[in-house]
Amino acid sequence: LGESRTLWELVERRAALTPDRPVLLQGDRTLTFGELRERAERVAAGLYDRGVRPGTVVAWQLPTRIETALLSFALARLGAVQTPLIPFHRDREVGFALRESRAGHFAVPGVWRGHDHTEMARRLGARGIFEAYSPESLPVGDPAVLPPPPASGEDVRWIYWTSGTTSDPKGVLHTDRSLIAGGSCLAHALRLTPDDVGSMAFPYAHIAGPDYTVMLLLYGFPAVMFEQFRLPDALEEYRKHGVTVAGGSTAFYAMFLAEQRKQPGEKVIPTLRLLAGGGAPKPPELYHAVVRELGCQLTHGYGMTEVPMITMGDPEDTAENLATTEGRPPAGMEIRIAGDGEVRLRGEAVCRGYLDPEQTAAAFDEDGFLRTGDLGRLTADGHLVLTGRIKDIIIRKGENISAKEIEDLLHTHPAVGDAAVIGLPDAERGERVCAVVEQPAGAPELTLAGLAAYLRERGLAVHKLPEQLEVVDALPRNETLRKVLKYKLRERYGAA
Ligand code: ATP
Ligand code: MG
Repeated sequence: LGESRTLWELVERRAALTPDRPVLLQGDRTLTFGELRERAERVAAGLYDRGVRPGTVVAWQLPTRIETALLSFALARLGAVQTPLIPFHRDREVGFALRESRAGHFAVPGVWRGHDHTEMARRLGARGIFEAYSPESLPVGDPAVLPPPPASGEDVRWIYWTSGTTSDPKGVLHTDRSLIAGGSCLAHALRLTPDDVGSMAFPYAHIAGPDYTVMLLLYGFPAVMFEQFRLPDALEEYRKHGVTVAGGSTAFYAMFLAEQRKQPGEKVIPTLRLLAGGGAPKPPELYHAVVRELGCQLTHGYGMTEVPMITMGDPEDTAENLATTEGRPPAGMEIRIAGDGEVRLRGEAVCRGYLDPEQTAAAFDEDGFLRTGDLGRLTADGHLVLTGRIKDIIIRKGENISAKEIEDLLHTHPAVGDAAVIGLPDAERGERVCAVVEQPAGAPELTLAGLAAYLRERGLAVHKLPEQLEVVDALPRNETLRKVLKYKLRERYGAA
């Protein structure tokens, strides 16, 4: 099935193989592979009646629901170009994406979690606004009107937006083939089987959405979907459906762990065998705590909007490799470390470029490798170790300091829950090292001197020691993978 040229071809092949097996589970609702094919085709006809044609750009800002998957596959059936937007985003991000992508149609959830998306869409001057939230509101029509499904998987059919951690979000161009390639790699890396039950704990509008769904289509197993991921409700769903592979990003591992600590001796998710995630740095300490206390395997990977799966830990690898590396690249992914330590990538799963041709020209090197902006090295046996982001390097008195090295050490401190290290402008040193720390409930108060002594004892070089400590209730995070937004911290403390 991995050879499918288009996503729709993959859906058809899977639906022919196991039409009655479930693919998506949400609350009391189930969608089978056969229903996915049939219902998405009717939605495609409904969209066709509204004027959506192959190549038409359609934006959607919809929560993680079965209807959203149907709409997205309907667009894939039509060969339209879709641009998924995260449901928590507001005027600034949505307006930007609508303008840049020139979307002619915009699917919204109506009023969702107290926010009127239809009104926002109108205010932003969106065209072709329609609601696609409930089974009743999805447009449907007679599939007889439809043109044949797209034949090529090489046309740009997806515009995803980067998180905007380092600058304005960039519109990333993907094809069906690049997404299928990413999803196949993920499925192989995780050693999944048709008996697994997965879970999507991230917004379906994230690039991980189609990647994950490709995996379900390849192997024919289902995943639980959450419109609103909230513990302990989510754990209840996990138990109900017997989830074997749960996932998300680093923040989710920590959440599960905290829950497990509330009820030691009893597994919070009895059927769980693997936690798999990625997309943000993972402190080695967290790996060990998860394996020890949750009693499951943990594998973590490296990905970006441009290349949703770059490397992934093999669950059968050694604890050392799983704790300290991002795993190995799948077949077909070439990794090159440039002279300055930058990780560069080439392969079928790499995006075709950006909406802005100038960004595309700047992003690929002379050999066609994508510049990731991340720093790393490869171990002797080909594991990737990420050491930070180029924009995250702190330059203090001319010395390069990696924020990640300090963060990893901070995470071993019992009174530190999560930590972000940033460089702040400093008249004397160029930049100074500032540690921003979240503390677990009831932890003793931290002092800069105490923390510095702790880091010093663990071998951190003196010039890397934090010179400023800020303790916060909650680090600013984005809504998708709950990634820490360092630019907000730099804004907050940079002026001080
Ligand atoms: P922007 O490109 O708009 O500044 P962004 O790069 O944060 O935003 P994403 O595409 O969502 O947007 O994130 C990809 C980045 O996340 C990677 O380039 C890398 O810096 C970071 N990342 C992903 N996986 C990991 C990981 N396993 N460990 C550390 N960092 C990771
Ligand atoms: Mg990026």
